[in-house]
Amino acid sequence: MILMLSLFLFAFSYFIFLYIFSADDWALFPSNRHVYKNGKVLYAGDITDCEGVVLCHTQDGERVYNDDEYIRLATLHAVGDLEGYIATGVHTAMRDDVTGYDKFNGLYNVSGTGNNVELTIDSRLCVKAYQQLEGYCGTIAMYNYRTGELVCMASSPSFDVSDNFIASDEDEGVYMNRFLSSTFTPGSTFKVVTACAAVGTLDDAYEREYVCNGGTTIKGEWVACTGNHGTITLEDAFAYSCNSYFSQLTVDLGKDTLTEYAEKLGFNGEFALDGVKVATSSYNVDDAKTIDFAWSGIGQYKDLFNPLQYLTAIGAIANSGTAVKPYIISSIKNDLGFELYNAKIEETEMLDKYTADSVAELMDNTVEIYYTKERFGNLDVCAKTGTAEIGEDDIPHSVLVGFVDDTDMPFAFVAIVENGGSGNGIALNSVSNLLQYAAEIYK
Ligand SMILES: [Zn+2]
Repeated sequence: MILMLSLFLFAFSYFIFLYIFSADDWALFPSNRHVYKNGKVLYAGDITDCEGVVLCHTQDGERVYNDDEYIRLATLHAVGDLEGYIATGVHTAMRDDVTGYDKFNGLYNVSGTGNNVELTIDSRLCVKAYQQLEGYCGTIAMYNYRTGELVCMASSPSFDVSDNFIASDEDEGVYMNRFLSSTFTPGSTFKVVTACAAVGTLDDAYEREYVCNGGTTIKGEWVACTGNHGTITLEDAFAYSCNSYFSQLTVDLGKDTLTEYAEKLGFNGEFALDGVKVATSSYNVDDAKTIDFAWSGIGQYKDLFNPLQYLTAIGAIANSGTAVKPYIISSIKNDLGFELYNAKIEETEMLDKYTADSVAELMDNTVEIYYTKERFGNLDVCAKTGTAEIGEDDIPHSVLVGFVDDTDMPFAFVAIVENGGSGNGIALNSVSNLLQYAAEIYK
């Protein structure tokens, strides 16, 4: 009897396994990855932003995007194209959800109209962010570090789906969502990680001093600084982004500690947005010579960050060490309004409270004494810029990470403007414009 039951269970499990496996296989088959099948739309439902603005819907058997050109451009990487070139867009990555395909039953939902997907993004903020990037490649994103809602995600360049666009080699990866699928050199924004390692492990983190002579010599090699800061402490070295201080600090902290804190903050780890895996941030100093290791602590050498990972880490610093996982799918409802999915807050402890709060304070102080709060329209912004060197003949990337310490708009942000120059230029100004616009809406 037991044998028969076991055989039955085995056969049954095998059947279920085959069924799920082949259903998945079907769904992943390239020609079936877009919302059209054999030229016919698969009755995908509405995709809306957090305010109910319809970004894309089905009308007379055709997928129709929003009327506004800028909304189309700024939300394209979130929504996705129809051919499936933007692999991370809802149309492709969430294809089963938006078409209402149920892999357990192998059917589309009863009335065949697809499911409605509500996103967390505010298309107004996406447009504003996209406009700030115009003319440059890059990405600007912002999320609520208390709830995890990704309120703004813009990736440039984009293209207008209504133009029957086909990309050429000069189009700089238009199909790639740089927020999810790219990694970048962090430059001085990595001093956030090094500062975490310092306050997290050194009893005298705030008292120790290093000397800057417009740079410093490490094992006979010169590390240049952008200023001549003399004898300097952590607080000022962070605010003025002193390379001499941070390179010497890095060497004293050692490879194990730096690696430990980089990994606490998500480097070398896996991140995803609603199940869509993002590019992996990397910090690897195993084979680094001392001078290379010193450069790694100031965000050069081989350091690479993915914007979603770093945004999450900055969110954890803003949130006293608790990282709230970012998400973009707010809810999925079928055509009868029945809720199939509703997002939930997912938290992990990235840092201890003391370390997170201490580094948040360093970022606050940086804006206070160096950039000034006025440059952010007097919003309580805490931030760190980076000017990421990417090669001797190339203009550096302009990078900014930070957050707003404000209960009405608890937003963490990340901005990368490729070949945009100093972080204190276009990245900072772009985010400032975006935040001041957000304040008009949310405050
Ligand atoms: Zn210096």
